[in-house]
Amino acid sequence: MSWLLPRFVLAALAIGIGALVGLWSSELLQFRLLGEILGASTAVGALVLLDVVRGHRLMLWLRGAQLDTAPRDTGLWGELGYRIERAVRERDKIIERERGQSGQFLSAIEASPNGVLMLDRQDQIHWCNRAAADHFSLDPQRDLLQRITNLVRSPSFVAFLQAGQFDSPVLLSNVRGVGALSVIVRRYGDGMKLVLSQDITERERADAMRRDFVANVSHEIRTPLTVLLGFIETMISLPLTEAERRRVLTLMDQQAQRMQGLVSDLLTLAQLEGSPRPAPDRWVSLDQLLARVSSDSTALSGGRHRIHVQTQTQVDLAGVESELLSAVANLMTNAVRYTPEKGDIDLAWRVLADGSGELLVSDTGMGIAREHLPRLTERFYRVDGSRSRETGGTGLGLSIVKHVVQRHGGELQIQSEPGKGSKFKLLFPAVRVRASGHPALPVDAPLSVAASGWR
Ligand code: ADP
Repeated sequence: MSWLLPRFVLAALAIGIGALVGLWSSELLQFRLLGEILGASTAVGALVLLDVVRGHRLMLWLRGAQLDTAPRDTGLWGELGYRIERAVRERDKIIERERGQSGQFLSAIEASPNGVLMLDRQDQIHWCNRAAADHFSLDPQRDLLQRITNLVRSPSFVAFLQAGQFDSPVLLSNVRGVGALSVIVRRYGDGMKLVLSQDITERERADAMRRDFVANVSHEIRTPLTVLLGFIETMISLPLTEAERRRVLTLMDQQAQRMQGLVSDLLTLAQLEGSPRPAPDRWVSLDQLLARVSSDSTALSGGRHRIHVQTQTQVDLAGVESELLSAVANLMTNAVRYTPEKGDIDLAWRVLADGSGELLVSDTGMGIAREHLPRLTERFYRVDGSRSRETGGTGLGLSIVKHVVQRHGGELQIQSEPGKGSKFKLLFPAVRVRASGHPALPVDAPLSVAASGWR
């Protein structure tokens, strides 16, 4: 109340001075009391006028945006102005802080990969983030206060909202023509609804792939198993001659080996997917590896093909020997299996100008039609299923090759023409190629097989 005392003093002073002025003037007017009243009233009136002026100034400041400071008067109006200004500044600070917090909160929701949508009790859109707009094909500005059921045409979504049973999520497919969404709804506030959407297209695809994979594996195992069981039953129930017994056992052996091959390929794939990338400083002699592949494929061919393997590369590759061997052996085995008798099979190596290297397996076999090429490395994908199975194929070979080469930082390229033959190229980056014991590598050494027209 620091303003109260000065104000009393000022009022008393004004009345006193007014009275004195009145006293002095009353001697002139010969009417003392009237003079005193007139004098005091004039002084009080002057004070009131001053108050009105100051109050008006403060009111003008309050009516405005309060960007500048409040009028700096003395006494009551000065203190009033100062305190109002302080309260206004405090309020501004709180509003600013809350605005910042809600801004951060909204940008966090905006950044969420999941969709967030706020609906009122009439299912009109109050707010939605970009993900929700994308999931439901909405325009966050234009569609505000529009009923969501008029905009999202999915019957299952509309039925879900109208039923009002939000205990479990609803799965929507083809909301935007593609993909799948999982949608959860929660009630909040006064009849408001929070709609949370999640794009589960990838998850659904992975689930479908896993289901396909399990179905494929089961199918691949069931076939030889059924054959085996048939033979076992024959052996139990029928008295067989020695020759028949031998024949049945040979067939059983083939089926068992087919299953073994499949299980072994599946294990290889699982191992490739589950282990870290091969270290770039464990060196494998390519010549030793190719010598082994050469003798294995020659044995598999049994003299039916003209096989030529370039075994003098004098190169080391950085990686895992068993994986590299498996990749090259798979390509050579395929070449033998899919090339008719008297066909040519070549394996060549060359180092390119940038220090990277390429292994090329080419054959003059049956070749592959263009439309199959992009799918060849899918698991269990076969161009000719019966031929693959007859020759002991599992449908996993090229999938393994692709995995191996990618884990070694490289790439598998395939080129083929039906009736003319195929070329499978493994590309290895320069960091994984070095001369074995020799400092210099022969750059761009000619290939023993022409490799023109690669994609
Ligand atoms: P598979 O065990 O059936 O050979 P792969 O994954 O190794 O499985 O190969 C997939 C398919 O690609 C094969 O079924 C075959 O039809 C085709 N293929 C692979 N290599 C060759 C080749 N050298 N010549 C012709 N077709 C091939």
